[in-house]
Amino acid sequence: MRYHCSSCHLAFDAAEEPGECPRCHVEAGLELQVGVPLAVKLFGALLACVITASVVGGVLGRLVAG
Ligand SMILES: [Zn+2]
Repeated sequence: MRYHCSSCHLAFDAAEEPGECPRCHVEAGLELQVGVPLAVKLFGALLACVITASVVGGVLGRLVAG
């Protein structure tokens, strides 16, 4: 699992909940990262583009045809 230190902003991997930050050794402020993977973000952006393009294309098509 991936953790993020809110003190020094270090992101690190740990098998179980870490007692302290490996860099600045604070014991509080360690947050479990549950962020969206980059690949999923890119896929979402691509999907949004496709949907937008199809909507715009549909509107333009109606304008041209009508
Ligand atoms: Zn730290």
